[in-house]
Amino acid sequence: MAVQTLSEPRQTRSLLSWRALHVLALVAAIAISVTGWSDFVERELIDLRFKLFAQPADRDLVVVAIDPQSLRELDVWPWPRRYHAEIIEQLLAAGAEQIAFDIDFSSSSAPGDDEILEEAFRSASGRVTLTVHKQLVRTGDGVELVHTEPLASFRPYVNLASANVYPDDDGVIRQMPTSDTWRGERLPTISASLAGADSSAPPWFYIDYAFDPLSMPVLSYSDVLAGRFDAERVRGKRIIVGATAIEMGDQLPVPVHGSISGVFIHSLAYQSLTQGRTLQFVSGLPLTLAIGVIALRFGQHLARRSWAFTALFTAAAVFLVIAAASVLQLAAPLIPEVMPTIAFLALLFPIELIKRIDQQAVRILFQGLQLRRTSAMMQTIVDNTFDGILIIRRDGSMEMANPAATAIFGVPGHELTNLRVGRLIPDLVGQDRSHLDIPELQVGVHEFRARRPDGTTFPVELATSEMRAGEEQFWVVLVRDITKRKAYEAQIRHQALHDGLTGLPNRTLLMDRLRLAMDAAVRDGKPLSLLLLDLNRFKTINDTLGHDVGDELLCEVGKRLCAPLRRADTVARLGSNEFAILLPAVMDMPGTLAVCNRIQESFKAPFQLSDLSLEVGVSIGVALFPDHATEPARLLQCADVAMFMAKRRQLGSAVYDAQQDANTIRNLTLTGELRRAIHNGQLSLVYQPKIDLKTQRVRGVEVLSRWRHPTHGSIPPDEFIPHAEVSGLIGPITEWVLATAMREMSALQQAGFALDLAVNFSPRVLQDDALPQMVADSIRTGRLDARRLTLEITESFLMDDPEDRLRIINGLRDVGVRLSIDDFGTGYSSLSYLKRLPLDELKIDKGFVMNMHEDQGDATIVRSTVDLAHNLGLKVVAEGVETREHVQMLQALGCDIGQGYLFSRPLPADQLQCWLRDSPWGFGRAAAPAVEAVPS
Ligand code: C2E
Ligand code: MG
Ligand code: MG
Repeated sequence: MAVQTLSEPRQTRSLLSWRALHVLALVAAIAISVTGWSDFVERELIDLRFKLFAQPADRDLVVVAIDPQSLRELDVWPWPRRYHAEIIEQLLAAGAEQIAFDIDFSSSSAPGDDEILEEAFRSASGRVTLTVHKQLVRTGDGVELVHTEPLASFRPYVNLASANVYPDDDGVIRQMPTSDTWRGERLPTISASLAGADSSAPPWFYIDYAFDPLSMPVLSYSDVLAGRFDAERVRGKRIIVGATAIEMGDQLPVPVHGSISGVFIHSLAYQSLTQGRTLQFVSGLPLTLAIGVIALRFGQHLARRSWAFTALFTAAAVFLVIAAASVLQLAAPLIPEVMPTIAFLALLFPIELIKRIDQQAVRILFQGLQLRRTSAMMQTIVDNTFDGILIIRRDGSMEMANPAATAIFGVPGHELTNLRVGRLIPDLVGQDRSHLDIPELQVGVHEFRARRPDGTTFPVELATSEMRAGEEQFWVVLVRDITKRKAYEAQIRHQALHDGLTGLPNRTLLMDRLRLAMDAAVRDGKPLSLLLLDLNRFKTINDTLGHDVGDELLCEVGKRLCAPLRRADTVARLGSNEFAILLPAVMDMPGTLAVCNRIQESFKAPFQLSDLSLEVGVSIGVALFPDHATEPARLLQCADVAMFMAKRRQLGSAVYDAQQDANTIRNLTLTGELRRAIHNGQLSLVYQPKIDLKTQRVRGVEVLSRWRHPTHGSIPPDEFIPHAEVSGLIGPITEWVLATAMREMSALQQAGFALDLAVNFSPRVLQDDALPQMVADSIRTGRLDARRLTLEITESFLMDDPEDRLRIINGLRDVGVRLSIDDFGTGYSSLSYLKRLPLDELKIDKGFVMNMHEDQGDATIVRSTVDLAHNLGLKVVAEGVETREHVQMLQALGCDIGQGYLFSRPLPADQLQCWLRDSPWGFGRAAAPAVEAVPS
């Protein structure tokens, strides 16, 4: 089992260069700043710095607070304005330089009080400042900007200042202007007014909330009103009067200190102005850009350092930025923006970190990931494969088994790993049980028998390989259960060597066994015999009763043949209706003939097929080894010759006789003699009448050849015609027969007996392309009407090459002769094929006719053949009519013509003339007798 090596991971490449990533970080940082995403953090950092640098306020400004104490003590509200006049007097008397009121004097109060206050303002001669407000007021139509300002009667004696505050977008007040527009003019804000800020002051500034509002000197309004204060605390100071009590509702959110009164906000703004702490916001973008450029320019130096250094460096840089910002805030009135710079540095760090992970590290990372994936994949494969996988230690114990292995051996996984491999596959362990045979198995796959714990065995296929894990060495054994495959192979083998229909061995297996049996026979010095069997009339049964009946018959025959035999004998089906039986060892001639008899006996009982009872004969040819042949093929040929003899002579069984074999020396001699016989006048002709069964009168004759051999006597045509066919003499013989018969028929015609003439044509002759011409010439010479000549063609002729046969038959038909199929029922022609031929007549083989009384099957065949022939428009001739019953039966079946010994044996021409004259079937003067009157 080869383990695949992992493929190298692909080289990892960044889509963007490091430099591009730097630029991207810079753009991101700037975007963060511009969009205000970082404002929250930025403000937190500013507040942090305020807290860090907290300091007390300068005591230059005193707050006179309308505090809870004052509200409590002066319990009328609103307070009469003479209180404020009193306050001004008290404060100025104590030496205060400036007094600002963060109080709304826009509406009139009690007339006396307003005048008192106006007088106080006048007396203060420009040292009092009153505030104006712009505020949005909700009206019926919406929102309206309303200007509130002190009463016109007060204004000539006071300074005006703006008390407006502008919160940031989060509602917190961080910044303060130094002046504000008021009815088209510019007015200083309260803080700027008190501080005496000139035009050099910045228009806007951040209030320095590092000043502690609690450190500011505060006097309670009621104390000042009552004169309960130290004049020293106000001498030369600036005073701001305003509400600090929460119930007055003037609380606003500010950084660091939560919510404080407006008066304190103005106070802290005053502190910022007077102490040079008008903080200005500085954008962080230039710094960020500068650092960005530096990083791009010098970044590679950092790249050489470790990632920890880079982390520290980045942290230090962030700290440095914050520290620098703090220093700037403390030292200069500046608030530098740090977030873009910090964002850039923060983004830069991960980029630098990624840079640190060099290609090797990336490769290892990817390899690790791939390994994990591959091993997971391998595990899945191992768990799900159909093949069992066993990992075996050197000592034969099991290290691991996959689920398929547990399924194959029927043992749970945990039990399997406790077993030794020898328990499962015994043959893997050497004879002495001390070692494994696996090392020898490393090449290819090997088949073994495996064993389950219940003792059942089954075939397996093993493939083995060696595996090392550190110091340890294992065997990896791949196990495949091949039970099904073996069964399938056996089935295929069986199919290749057996006949599909009967299940008997076929020709291949027979020849194989014959070869082995011959070897054994030679070894043991004992003979063996081979029988070849052919069912009589099988083709007819098949054609007339159907293939299903034919198949059923063959199966039954197979069983019947096996019944009387030993186990060692082989019954084979060679094809169609041909069977063979091999009788190996100790089968001498008497023993063999006894078997033949038993088989013939067993065939005497009719075969019961479906609703039919069929009698079927069998012709058996016997050949013996070594007497008849020493080669398997030749022995089979000998049995075939013997079978042919048995069939032709209707002997049942026949033993091979070299004399009957056309290939033997005797038969070669006979062929030479036959050639001479034609010229020496040893051949003669006989004529057998054919009777019209309706009129019971002779219609014509069939001419048959005879050979009178000087030494062998009369040789029947069944014997010499095959010689003539093999030797090629059949052509001249047929020509001679045709010419002679025509001449004799012509003579008979002249004598007043006009007859039809039937001539037998061998298949060999029919294949001669010159035949039609020869027939035409003979007809012309013999001066016979072509329609009186019938050519009898054996059915077997039609079987080979049907298309070619059709051409030949059509050629003969063109000459004008009639065509007849002889011995119908013994061949294998298909009915559908017959339909295509231009035939005139069908001759039922005498074998069927002669037995039709006793044999139901024969009777059925004859009836079917008559019907079939009539359906095809053919006349039917029955051969072998020997009895009156035959005639009656044939008449009942509608058969047209009869031929047989009942009417006449074949006769020479001169005797035929007498028969024609005298026979009741002939042309005699007497009327033809009815069948009933047939002479016995
Ligand atoms: P076939 O053409 O079927 O001829 C009929 C055969 O049946 C003849 O045998 C005839 O004597 C015989 N036969 C007629 N009636 C009866 C009967 O009632 N009972 C019995 N048992 N037999 C009867 P034969 O003359 O021995 O001829 C045998 C075969 O030899 C013929 O069968 C024919 O195929 C062939 N043959 C004869 N003469 C020639 C010939 O000149 N040329 C060729 N090519 N073949 C010939
Ligand atoms: Mg014939
Ligand atoms: Mg015949």
